Amino acid sequence: MNRHAEHDLAVTISGGSIAGLCHAIALRRIGATVTVHERVPGPMMARGAGIVVQSELTRLLADNGAGPLPFTSCRGRRYLGFDSGDGVLQAMPQQFTSWEAIHTALRAAVSRECYRAGSEVIDVSQEGSRILASLSDGTRVESDLFLAADGSGSVTRRRMLPEVEARYAGYVAWRGTLDEREVSGDLLPFFDDLFTFSEARSGGHMLAYLIPGKDDAVTPGFRRLNWVWYVHASRADLARLLTDKNGERHRSSLPRGMTPESTIAALKARASREIHPKMAALVSETRAPFLQTILDVTVPKTVFGRILLTGDAAFVVRPHTAGGTAKAAYEASVLAHALQSAGANVDSALSSTERLQLEYGNSLYRYGLALGNRWSRERSTD
Ligand SMILES: Cc1cc2nc3c(=O)[nH]c(=O)nc-3n(C[C@H](O)[C@H](O)[C@H](O)COP(=O)(O)OP(=O)(O)OC[C@H]3O[C@@H](n4cnc5c(N)ncnc54)[C@H](O)[C@@H]3O)c2cc1C
Repeated sequence: MNRHAEHDLAVTISGGSIAGLCHAIALRRIGATVTVHERVPGPMMARGAGIVVQSELTRLLADNGAGPLPFTSCRGRRYLGFDSGDGVLQAMPQQFTSWEAIHTALRAAVSRECYRAGSEVIDVSQEGSRILASLSDGTRVESDLFLAADGSGSVTRRRMLPEVEARYAGYVAWRGTLDEREVSGDLLPFFDDLFTFSEARSGGHMLAYLIPGKDDAVTPGFRRLNWVWYVHASRADLARLLTDKNGERHRSSLPRGMTPESTIAALKARASREIHPKMAALVSETRAPFLQTILDVTVPKTVFGRILLTGDAAFVVRPHTAGGTAKAAYEASVLAHALQSAGANVDSALSSTERLQLEYGNSLYRYGLALGNRWSRERSTD
């Protein structure tokens, strides 16, 4: 892509997680010179767990020479009540992968010289049509376009839209994974080949499915069982739940391995009272459950001159939509396509991208809210 007579489009990306890498591969494919700055210095492998495979992501990977994405699959769903029994089956084939598998596939497609680990963007400004980004090591980098893919706590969003705040949805997601060889007795055959849901006695629900295991293994015997349990938590509860085993308070999630033993014991006891015994057994057998606060973030705008907010930096959608990753992939495809169609007119490309981002982000937000509210209405006590 020869965007300007004298040089290709230079793009600085803040954030080297899923959104940053999706944009990196899509923009490199259209000829842009891309540099990703990720503040985490080492490997980023302990962040999420299972992710439902969506076509937006697989299309982006295929179109940009990345992948293949390892996945597990199921033939249908099982809906359990909280007491016992085998529940109700529904045929609905689906595929599942993991945050680690997606990140690995994307990272492998982004060359080393494009990715700066341990590089934090601390400031960004625009002078004419040039963007200047200041990095934590004191250097400044110049580009034609800056993408803020720096997640739900985006510093760029806070600077551009100080009035936008993350809103706590009133509940948290407890999550866990178990290597399938660690799963006892008859549990594995019960969960294998199904996407299983269980109501909880006082509202909320839990879900479980198999995902790729260590080194992306999808062979039976080497996969992982992944579960998520949505639990109501008051703001006072939240302060306690987000305090890790060293007494440090976290902003919105508690990383794997950091949950205090007393919190894990309380979670397991609650599971045995509230959810189907097979689901409670999964919680009980999980060594290191971790916590994600459910937040809503919506923005009225994503474009500020040559600065674009994208991924979770723009909209944080509820996990019931299984859409956060798909949204990041969609936004990357839309931007690449708009830049390619607009020739040298970067501003027109950004404006058409913003329109589609706002449409998609708002509709996914409303969908997540409707799913979350349905659960809240069903909740009887707390
Ligand atoms: C625990 C968890 C579970 C999830 N489960 C699902 C799921 O099941 N399905 C689904 O579709 N989505 C899920 N999501 C959401 C999904 O992962 C995200 O929507 C998607 O990956 C896009 O995230 P992102 O790249 O925009 O932000 P993030 O993944 O938050 O990445 C932001 C990156 O920016 C870096 N960064 C921040 N500030 C700076 C800075 N100043 N300079 C440089 N780097 C910076 C951070 O270190 C981080 O790596 C989950 C998210 C979490 C946290």
